[in-house]
Amino acid sequence: MRVIFLGPPGVGKGTQADFIAQKYEIPKLSTGDLLRESVAKETSLGKEAKGYMNRGELVPDSVVIGLVEEKLESTACQKGFLLDGFPRTVAQADQLSTYLSTTGKTLDHVVYFSLSNDEIVRRISGRRSCPECKAVYHVEFVPPKLEGVCDSCGKDLVQRNDDKPETIASRLAVYQDQTAPLIEYYKIRNILRELDGAGSVPTVQDRLVALLAKPRVE
Ligand code: AMP
Repeated sequence: MRVIFLGPPGVGKGTQADFIAQKYEIPKLSTGDLLRESVAKETSLGKEAKGYMNRGELVPDSVVIGLVEEKLESTACQKGFLLDGFPRTVAQADQLSTYLSTTGKTLDHVVYFSLSNDEIVRRISGRRSCPECKAVYHVEFVPPKLEGVCDSCGKDLVQRNDDKPETIASRLAVYQDQTAPLIEYYKIRNILRELDGAGSVPTVQDRLVALLAKPRVE
């Protein structure tokens, strides 16, 4: 299965992507995770990306496209993949489409997660993550057993720099301006499926599994 998760930041794509990747045994490629890893390792790519990310802006297409194509060519991705947070611009989507057609592959689903802005802000501002094992929590909806501490590895949880209130508004504006046009982009290609992102993690999971079970629209 080749699938894209599309939608605003904080809508729950990453949480559901982990579950779906495990269920269907396909690798999850999250450009946000890959970029954060590069920033943490202080690679040259990470140094280039850091400022954009902290300001809530998109990292330039040329950087992100190279990163994704390198991963897509790996053996792990030959049978399928789940793209979380990519493409995020029309240029990225065009490039992905060219890559897929030159390698004789097609997408099965583009899932568009929808949620109200108020709920998105609530989800982003309460999000906490583990800097060690990358587990993600929410202070209200998915709290760790011990406040501020990762259940899996015991590290102190942190709030992502770009989840701080001053950055959320700019991320949402960037989404509207640069990523939301992809909804129409995939709709006219007959491959977009809208998923209601409201509700608990298991509720959305059930909706998603039902949606992915539907045959691909030809
Ligand atoms: P995410 O974890 O998906 O919310 O991504 C965090 C940040 O990484 C974004 O706000 C961007 O700065 C950067 N980023 C992630 N994916 C992309 C992408 N496909 N294109 C450009 N920048 C990206």
